[in-house]
Amino acid sequence: MHNDQVQDSSSLMGTQAVDDMSRSFAFTSKLDAIVAWGRKNSFWPMPYGTACCGIEFMSVVGPKYDLARFGAEVVRFSPRQADLLIVAGTITEKMAPVLVRIYQQMLEPKYVISMGACASSGGFYRAYHVLQGCDKVIPVDVYVPGCPPTPEAVIDGVLALQRMIATNQPRPWKENWKSPYEQA
Ligand code: SF4
Repeated sequence: MHNDQVQDSSSLMGTQAVDDMSRSFAFTSKLDAIVAWGRKNSFWPMPYGTACCGIEFMSVVGPKYDLARFGAEVVRFSPRQADLLIVAGTITEKMAPVLVRIYQQMLEPKYVISMGACASSGGFYRAYHVLQGCDKVIPVDVYVPGCPPTPEAVIDGVLALQRMIATNQPRPWKENWKSPYEQA
């Protein structure tokens, strides 16, 4: 009788251990999903608005288009409180080191949306003093086309970034990024 009880209790403990182990595996994969869900729905964007696209961005966070619906309404003007840089406007060569410094000061994990033709490619400014795309100096995750992009296009860019985060897409442009202003 006593032996049976010991056997029962040991087999019960074994089952419990396996159960706990399977729970911990399930929890780990779930935890990744929960963290990704939290990240994608709580961007703290910092607009780097230098021209008309900066003004256009204001309508995206305004009451009509209401970026808050996607959890990205906490706009910050300090890079240390932001994790999503929205480059909105023309970037001159002179501004480029400032943009890099701002990017470096942002919190990890951090993301970049290039909003509009000027930020993405220099736009129609084929001039010596204009950076021909902010991706020459910082890693860009999503490019939003347009001059200016419509608010819907900007929201679509934010949703594209959310999908990237939710599915844990690899970001080699970010992982391999080095500041162009640092000595090798
Ligand atoms: S893309 Fe067009 S709207 Fe945007 S900053 Fe350049 S010129 Fe202005």
